[in-house]
Amino acid sequence: MRIFTTPEEIRAQCAQWRREGRSLALVPTMGYYHQGHESLMARGRELADKLVVSLFVNPAQFGPNEDLDAYPRDFERDCAIAEAHNVDAIFAPRPEDMYRPDHATWVEVPELARGLCGKSRPIHFRGVCTVVLKLLLLTLPDFALFGQKDWQQQAIIRRMVRDLNLETEIVAMPIVREPDGLALSSRNVYLTPDERAKAPAIREGLLLASRLAKRGETDVARVKNAVRAYWAGHLPESKIDYLEIVDPESLAPLEKIAGPALMACAVFLGKARLIDNILLMN
Ligand code: AMP
Repeated sequence: MRIFTTPEEIRAQCAQWRREGRSLALVPTMGYYHQGHESLMARGRELADKLVVSLFVNPAQFGPNEDLDAYPRDFERDCAIAEAHNVDAIFAPRPEDMYRPDHATWVEVPELARGLCGKSRPIHFRGVCTVVLKLLLLTLPDFALFGQKDWQQQAIIRRMVRDLNLETEIVAMPIVREPDGLALSSRNVYLTPDERAKAPAIREGLLLASRLAKRGETDVARVKNAVRAYWAGHLPESKIDYLEIVDPESLAPLEKIAGPALMACAVFLGKARLIDNILLMN
């Protein structure tokens, strides 16, 4: 496994692989790996000849009062995990090599970035889109893999790739969870033992919504109220950032569940802001 730190080096390596006729998969990450990241690496390994993993805590997607400095990092451990997945190249640039002091170009998909996480994180998806487009242009991969845990992110990237006529196929992988149902997240380290013990209730609330929809409940307000009531009982110390039911592709809010519907949430639990989602069927 080779480690690249400058955009020029990774671009040259990927160009060489393409000239040799190799297919490429890219897994963009911010590091501090868990099995969610590993599932993307494993799928990328199956899909393409060469697997590139980017490891970059992207300052542009953090708001001024967010956890950029506190975000967990462990480069040595991450490299060992990537190596175990037969990753061919890690791209770990320094922020100053990705953003010059006079960086002035931003990519936005505002229609999809306004709601859900975008409401409380107004510059987040602009940062995500800009860095992902840079990574796609540097590596020109056949496949780029994203997790459905960040559903809004993969929907926005998919739209950006379509709108800008990029050739990369966006592959979305299912959410990997702890045995008790909590979605794996690098930010789970922020939870105290007590918060960690209660955190699976986030998923339980979403499962309750799924059961209601399966039983024929179509009224979005009633489903959301049932989840809020469940959380009020089981997670009294939490604060809901948002709880929405939206069209899975356009992310437009729904009033009735009468087709594809995604329930997505962000919940503050102590220092952690945890996100999760579930597809509702009826
Ligand atoms: P991050 O390092 O948190 O930016 O995540 C890098 C990629 O891993 C993103 O595409 C995430 O959606 C994905 N990911 C994070 N957590 C999970 C999870 N629990 N299951 C599946 N994918 C995940």
